[in-house]
Amino acid sequence: MKVHIEKDLCTSCGICYETFVNVFVEGEEGISEVKDDLKGKDLKDSLLKEAISAAEECPAGAIVVK
Ligand code: SF4
Repeated sequence: MKVHIEKDLCTSCGICYETFVNVFVEGEEGISEVKDDLKGKDLKDSLLKEAISAAEECPAGAIVVK
């Protein structure tokens, strides 16, 4: 499964990149980004768990895991 951020929805709250630091980084103007080396990659194990938790916790519904 891959993780993707709908940047139009992200409100720069910081929850994902402050909590799930192995998957997300703070991008321009506080908008979240998936770490470069994970973009478009199939996530497994702990990284996938972090991505799923972030998707559940994102208040804007901006994190998509599929
Ligand atoms: S948790 Fe959601 S709204 Fe907050 S920074 Fe991450 S993607 Fe953006």
